[in-house]
Amino acid sequence: MEINGSRFADHINTLAEIGKIGETGVCRLAHSKEDRQAVDVVKGWMEEAGLETRIDCFGNLIGRLEGKDQDKPILMLGSHIDSQPYGGRFDGTAGALGGIEVVHTLKDQGIDPNRTIEVVCFSDEEGSRFNKGVFGVRGLIGQLEEGELKRKDKNGVTRLEALREFGVEPDVSQSPVYQPGDIEAFLELHIEQGPVLEADNKPVGIVSAISGPIWLTVTLEGFAGHAGSVPMNLRQDAFLGAATITKEFNELVRNEGTPNTVGTVGSIQNFPNSRNIISEKVEFTIDLRDIDIEARTNLEKKLYQIIEKTASELNLEYSVSEDTKSEPRYCADWIKDIMKQEDEKLGFQSPVLMSGPFHDALFMSYISDYGMIFVRCEKGISHNPLEYAEMDDLQKGVELLYHTAAKIAQS
Ligand SMILES: [Zn+2]
Repeated sequence: MEINGSRFADHINTLAEIGKIGETGVCRLAHSKEDRQAVDVVKGWMEEAGLETRIDCFGNLIGRLEGKDQDKPILMLGSHIDSQPYGGRFDGTAGALGGIEVVHTLKDQGIDPNRTIEVVCFSDEEGSRFNKGVFGVRGLIGQLEEGELKRKDKNGVTRLEALREFGVEPDVSQSPVYQPGDIEAFLELHIEQGPVLEADNKPVGIVSAISGPIWLTVTLEGFAGHAGSVPMNLRQDAFLGAATITKEFNELVRNEGTPNTVGTVGSIQNFPNSRNIISEKVEFTIDLRDIDIEARTNLEKKLYQIIEKTASELNLEYSVSEDTKSEPRYCADWIKDIMKQEDEKLGFQSPVLMSGPFHDALFMSYISDYGMIFVRCEKGISHNPLEYAEMDDLQKGVELLYHTAAKIAQS
């Protein structure tokens, strides 16, 4: 290995102490005291690696190493170091600290990169505090929305106040910071947060694409009635409608989806939610994802048919609102090719797999070619203190990141 595996392990373990909960969990909410403490510690590691650091007006921590040719578009590496309220030690940190390790290794090897390299710890990737995440990366690429700084956390603190408390003066007029053409490639290493690599018995994977989710909210309206007196054939039971749609949607995805399609009903609200009243109104969410947009569109059409048929059979009114519809974003072939070549030299035999969850990289993809490396994690558990990845696997992932980055930095 060319990276310094023990230095990287030290960094992971040291960062896991900040905001530690229980034996293995962390809570480092965006812009919080713990987040700031983590940013300060990681900033120190960036400086040891030879990066010049700054914390921008969105709370992003950015380290920069000037390349020999300043006219070349830069190479960017990064991920996030904020966490879920009940999160794990590796989500985000693996890629953020992995990026720093890459630059530190270049320095150890005496390599002066041709192009400038930046390593970014994006602020508020997780989104749990203000119920809207990937704030830092959206600031960088110009995808902030109206009123973003006015969003409040559960204690009534606005993002504006939280960022000031964190120590930066937010300024949305600075967005976007980067334009298409500024960045040659963005690379992110991340734990898989899924079970595919474990099932494949492989430590590392090369990502093909980040799948695009469709998020729908379905509302069904029937008529409330006494559970003891309304005969079955006269009911307009909204909950039964939701149950039927959920079951048929599940079968549809299983039977007609690609191996990559996933469909989930994850949240449901029932009114009046009483044991002896027939359900009058139900609202539930649908999450449908695939990297194959045609396959996804086809299933989406059939899902609407299921909803319509069920509502009509059960005598229910229905409406569907579309909350999110994002397209899958494909990793650049030329970056995947470099990864595959380097992977072969390292002998990892890493498979190619897609990402169901989104990452900072998804947003970077709108202004730059991007590539991602996944590291196996136990049972795919994440957003949970039980999240676990073997240090040996993480080091292999960072080694592949290093060789890929070195190639691009020298091109
Ligand atoms: Zn993450």
